[in-house]
Amino acid sequence: MPGTSEQITRLREEGMAAIAAARSESDLLDAKGRFFGKKGAVSGILKGVAALPVEERKAVGELANRTRAELESAFDARLAGIRDQERHRSEGRERIDVTLPGRGPMPGHRHPVSQTMSEIISVFRRLGFSVQGGPDVEKDYYNFEALNFPPEHPARDMQDTFYVESAAGDLVLRTHTSPVQIRTMERMKPPVRIIAPGTVYRSDSDITHSPMFHQVEGLAVDRDITMADLKGLLTEFCRMTFGPTKPVRFRPSYFPFTEPSAEMDIQCVICGGSGCRVCKESGWLEILGAGMVDPTVFGFVGYDPEEYSGFAFGMGIERIAMLRHGISDIRLLFENDIRFLSQF
Ligand SMILES: [Zn+2]
Repeated sequence: MPGTSEQITRLREEGMAAIAAARSESDLLDAKGRFFGKKGAVSGILKGVAALPVEERKAVGELANRTRAELESAFDARLAGIRDQERHRSEGRERIDVTLPGRGPMPGHRHPVSQTMSEIISVFRRLGFSVQGGPDVEKDYYNFEALNFPPEHPARDMQDTFYVESAAGDLVLRTHTSPVQIRTMERMKPPVRIIAPGTVYRSDSDITHSPMFHQVEGLAVDRDITMADLKGLLTEFCRMTFGPTKPVRFRPSYFPFTEPSAEMDIQCVICGGSGCRVCKESGWLEILGAGMVDPTVFGFVGYDPEEYSGFAFGMGIERIAMLRHGISDIRLLFENDIRFLSQF
């Protein structure tokens, strides 16, 4: 049957063309399926050979088998070619250009809060103060009671905190680093000159308050310490931190553990005293609280208030960092956006 031979010859040409046109392994497999796979056209002809007249079987069978073998070897050759091209392409992508400049690790630096904290510590060290630490999870006694905040005292509302579950129910996250003052006075006799830097916690969150922030507190106890010593020391601290010409002022205030108490302001760093949104038109910015240690506090640690007097002060590190760098939102300090942090 000459028709069958012609059909095989045509299938061979079409199959060869499809293999040559294949651009990927899946194009190739598609061609194989159509022409010489198990269900392909050439295989179909081979299956029909038995039905042909005897004199044609041999010739058609041979032609079909040869065609299938030729298509298979063309398929194998094209497959090898496509895989070669693929490999070259991926090697090209991965090739290393040794002439490009190297990518070094990004150099880091200290967080602005840590920078400010260590600068404040170094100022007080130069003024004769040593550094003391204490636990973040603190007993109610040290955080409130020994600092003259009796239970139910309304001043506790100014420092609402986080309570830690414990058998005695007396643990809190410290709301200030003042407990370190009590612990230090329990341990040592006057003269005392310490600062206590560290992390503190309050149930408070807005653009100027964070539930976790940092404080530095200071304490000086000795014979004949007066409010003049307090004012002199803190004025010197401000000169060293904000510049020698920055005006400062003290205002009367209230803290349970100091009497009298004061707050200290510096002239507004934004408007220079003429009044702006940041200083609420007052020309001044509050930077710390201070006062003479209340004799009641000395009673808790066994110091004789007739013999000794002292002063204490405390400031928020974030607040000082914000004033020095003109940062308007405290939360920026804790979002850890590298674009923000790399400015300092
Ligand atoms: Zn201002």
